[in-house]
Amino acid sequence: MSHAWGYAADNGPEKWCDNFPIANGPRQSPIDILPGDASFDGGLKPLSLKYDPSTCLDILNNGHSFQVTFVDDADSSTLTNGPITGTYRLKQFHFHWGASDDKGSEHTVSGTKYPAELHLVHWNTKYPSFGDAASKPDGLAVVGVFLKIGDKNDSLQKLLDAFSGIKTKGKQTTFSGFDPATLLPGCLDYWTYDGSLTTPPLLESVTWIVCKEPISVSSDQMAKFRSLLFSAEGEAECCMVDNYRPPQPLKGRPVRSSFK
Ligand SMILES: [Zn+2]
Repeated sequence: MSHAWGYAADNGPEKWCDNFPIANGPRQSPIDILPGDASFDGGLKPLSLKYDPSTCLDILNNGHSFQVTFVDDADSSTLTNGPITGTYRLKQFHFHWGASDDKGSEHTVSGTKYPAELHLVHWNTKYPSFGDAASKPDGLAVVGVFLKIGDKNDSLQKLLDAFSGIKTKGKQTTFSGFDPATLLPGCLDYWTYDGSLTTPPLLESVTWIVCKEPISVSSDQMAKFRSLLFSAEGEAECCMVDNYRPPQPLKGRPVRSSFK
């Protein structure tokens, strides 16, 4: 890669290993989840997600996705239980999506792609900060939620309504009072496995928690995701689409399920 990483042919997932050799490591993400190969673990606890809308800070186009960032200087918005031990704080959430409704998720289920995937990123408070946690084997816990074409999603619409302020790379605007719990599916059954960040630096620090039940999004709403740009203001316009990494080799890792 002669320039920054991205999702194009010359700087996309197939090239990331040039600068980030861990791309070929033992616990990379995403993966194709094969439900028949996942083992039910009766010891897995239900997820406890406690989110405080007052910790919601801003919404940002980072040139790879858009993300909503949270204040994380106290245990206000947290993930506990599930497959993890201790308390993990919510740092941000973001999405990955496709150029069309037939692709876009990072995880797949028996090869099935969803049009988008939500990632809620939490860090382990046994470490002093997100930055410290991000390189530790038990540093991060990311909850993945698939989006499936269906009814319009009113919670998601609150995010889309802020897009006018973040069309181009580097744009950021205040976004307050949003409750990320409103983006969760009704059923919190999940698969879990040890993996990595799905973007460079691809650190192998993530306990993945992928919800079985998707949330809905309308096709019109998916179209709005694609109105964002990878490019900065004044550059040639490049639509933010296909910002997903394809499934990586499982390399013998167990995938467990919280449900039968
Ligand atoms: Zn992600």
